Amino acid sequence: MSESRQPNHESASPEGRPLRTAALLAVGSELTVGETRDTNSGDLARSLSRHGVEIAWIAALPDVETSVIDALSDALRTVDLVVTTGGLGPTPDDLTREAIAAAVEERPAVDPDLERWLRHLFDRRGIAFPETNLKQAWLVPSATAIPNERGTAPGWWIDRPDGRVVVALPGPPGEMRPMWEGWVLPRLTERGLGQERVTRTFRLAGIGESAVAALLGEPLLRAENPVVATYARADAVDVRISARMDGARSAAELFEAAAVVVLAAVGNLVWGHDDDTWPGVLGREMAALGWTAALVEAGTGGSTMRLLGDAAWLTSSRLLAPTEADAPIAGLADQARRASGATVGLAVRAAESGEDTFVEVAACGPWGARETRQTAFLSGSEGRRRAGIAAASFLNGILRDEQTAGGRSAR
Ligand code: AMP
Ligand code: MG
Repeated sequence: MSESRQPNHESASPEGRPLRTAALLAVGSELTVGETRDTNSGDLARSLSRHGVEIAWIAALPDVETSVIDALSDALRTVDLVVTTGGLGPTPDDLTREAIAAAVEERPAVDPDLERWLRHLFDRRGIAFPETNLKQAWLVPSATAIPNERGTAPGWWIDRPDGRVVVALPGPPGEMRPMWEGWVLPRLTERGLGQERVTRTFRLAGIGESAVAALLGEPLLRAENPVVATYARADAVDVRISARMDGARSAAELFEAAAVVVLAAVGNLVWGHDDDTWPGVLGREMAALGWTAALVEAGTGGSTMRLLGDAAWLTSSRLLAPTEADAPIAGLADQARRASGATVGLAVRAAESGEDTFVEVAACGPWGARETRQTAFLSGSEGRRRAGIAAASFLNGILRDEQTAGGRSAR
């Protein structure tokens, strides 16, 4: 972790230090042996990223005090905000409090208010207070207790003299999340969280991730600001642009400049943005045109139906037996349309072709009939899944053309 990556932060005054970078430490041996998945860090990373905080790193650590101390010390040299989850239980193996105390060189002591609260939790159930639990009432002098309404482990908020902040939260997500949302995040926001950032995802179909990367080019994909990254998802290849202001230029300006380049390269393949899904996008377009559709598919295992979900505009969908599907693809689409009275008939047929899948799609509607043939990557269920996406993508292209044409009345 090099210090020089955040060069301008050292000069900030304690109160004025903006919290722009963060490290997330998930503590617990159950994580490092793979018995429990670290969902906490992902949740926190998403939340902080949305607030414009750059996550410098995420680590999962075993219940080993020196490992936690080392990671904390490293974080306290390099980032503005450190958030730990886990290790706040009452048992000797939970030692996040001990590690934080060592890292900030302070001595923990039982806080009388916390002790009273903790003892009361046991009294009210008529259970003898296990003295081992007393360490859940510890605080170091620079720590404020973060109330936990769902468990016996309060969190810690620590303001460092240099303006850095350490937040320690318990591991159970059901305790961690409400404490984060209800207590920590509002205070962090008040304190000055993140920086202006503009982020947008373009969702692409009909192309593989490596081809997208080749079209965008290495310089763009390696740039530090804006960050342009590609992700292969089940329903799309995503291109995410995230820009932060850099003194002279605003985040929006930097974002725009990168978006122009991205859209010039792959704009024709974009079917959605950010959280868009196929059912959502097609549903909007069908609603705008006031249309309905009938679907027939064969050889797909119903992948198109599954992808589209129980959309209201899909008035009928049927998986055809091979014998029923033995006809020209446009004929199948037309038949589906006539039989159902829907505005649009959509037919999809998939067949394995070597290690890949041959896909035919036809759509007929007020525009007449259009069809496409393509070879989807891979065979088996993966190929069938891609056949569904090919169908959704083809229909989407037509609907867009129709909308640009001003829409025609459904006949
Ligand atoms: P703790 O007593 O604070 O160490 O946390 C106890 C429990 O919280 C563990 O047994 C896990 O079930 C859960 N937990 C801890 N850390 C995480 C994490 N990073 N992500 C999801 N669950 C976690
Ligand atoms: Mg633990």
